Amino acid sequence: MNSNPYRIYLTEDEIPRQWYNVRADMKEQHAPYLHPATHKPLVKEDLLPIFCDELCDQEMNTTDRYIDIPEEVRDFYRIFRPSPLIRAYKLEKALDTPAKIYYKFEGNNTSGSHKLNSAAAQVYYAKKQGLTSLTTETGAGQWGTALAMACAHFGMDLTVYMVKVSFEQKPFRKAVINTFGADIVPSPSDTTQVGRAILKAHPGTGGSLGCAISEAVEASINTPNCRYVLGSVLNQVLLHQSIIGLESKAAFEKIGEYPDTVIGCAGGGSNLGGLMAVFLQDTLNGTRKGTEFIAVEPASCPSLTRGRYAYDFCDTGHVTPLAPMYTLGSEFIPSANHAGGLRYHGMSPILSKLYHDGYMKAVAVEQSKVFEAATYFAKHETILPAPESAHAIRTAIDEAIKCRESGEAKTIFFGLTGTGYFDMNAYTSYLEGTMTDFIPTDEELQKGFDTLPTI
Ligand SMILES: *Cc1c(COP(=O)(O)O)cnc(C)c1O
Repeated sequence: MNSNPYRIYLTEDEIPRQWYNVRADMKEQHAPYLHPATHKPLVKEDLLPIFCDELCDQEMNTTDRYIDIPEEVRDFYRIFRPSPLIRAYKLEKALDTPAKIYYKFEGNNTSGSHKLNSAAAQVYYAKKQGLTSLTTETGAGQWGTALAMACAHFGMDLTVYMVKVSFEQKPFRKAVINTFGADIVPSPSDTTQVGRAILKAHPGTGGSLGCAISEAVEASINTPNCRYVLGSVLNQVLLHQSIIGLESKAAFEKIGEYPDTVIGCAGGGSNLGGLMAVFLQDTLNGTRKGTEFIAVEPASCPSLTRGRYAYDFCDTGHVTPLAPMYTLGSEFIPSANHAGGLRYHGMSPILSKLYHDGYMKAVAVEQSKVFEAATYFAKHETILPAPESAHAIRTAIDEAIKCRESGEAKTIFFGLTGTGYFDMNAYTSYLEGTMTDFIPTDEELQKGFDTLPTI
């Protein structure tokens, strides 16, 4: 049935029909979001002006274990899913490890990442509600591209606020987003009040995800029939991304395997949250013991490994609700490392809670080590990984090397979230030996912690 040793295939019929909501199985929920002005626990009504109705429900849903994937969304998924689960035989051989290494590859669509899984769902619900336009932010550009693709598919206008430094580094992202019919504005811009204020306070700033979120939220509130959408961090996004883990588990079942170690890079936490959810379910309900879950973050933006577990704003302009999460402070502006998708000050409240409660580990890795792993992986596995994804590769390789030393034949599984074709400046800098590793000092981090709100 599965005659290809490298790729474990699912049939189209095996694309999941429901997402999995890990919160229904968590022993304890994360603390509630708080209203940014009153600091009272947020209720659905507070979210309605920002997000579309169905997504507000999903954000607050702690009880429904499975949520139906609408037929229209599943139909769109069929264009680029199921995504392959791949056995990394060549990498295993090169590393001379007894470990088995598998990865789930989400880069097989034009956006080049897993972000299309949530974009499809969010745009569908907005359309169903009769909205006519959406706003969002994008850092490295993958989310903006995914959302532009979904908006083209379902027929919805879109304005993307793109972090200015990325906008300038990656001009082709603009061309791709425009190709799908969306508008793109480098952020901070003079098109919003908050953008003008940030520009006044920090003339010449290259922006950050936190700034772009503030602008996109303000623009959505001031535009009739418009809502804001976010590509990571939120519970709803982790829910949509659960399709990654659901498909993976189904494929593992076909070959009678189960991972000992599940590894994912963590920016806002959506791909890892989605990858690990159904495996964690087995841990939570006691059907499986000893599975290890590892989040990998950049040493330059170490929200889990060096951040505080506290209430913080999701954006720089402080227009969003307060979220309980591991954070470096909403005014922490990470250094211009090359994994734009991981340069976020905070972390998903779900992953933060799981990490805090000891269900998940976290490691921080340095940029040059990440690119060493990326190029090694590309040569052996033929896929050119996104710098973000290469964080997970780095840790998977490190775990496989540990197995070589201990002789343990673990099954290591990681999420390969995307491709790196827009990141060739970064690869060039690595190959030419000009890449630097920036690790913030405790004093630098303290400046970010000083901006945490007092609750
Ligand atoms: C956005 C992105 C990430 C990080 O985002 P998460 O929400 O943490 O998953 C990782 N890899 C790629 C390719 C991305 O585009």
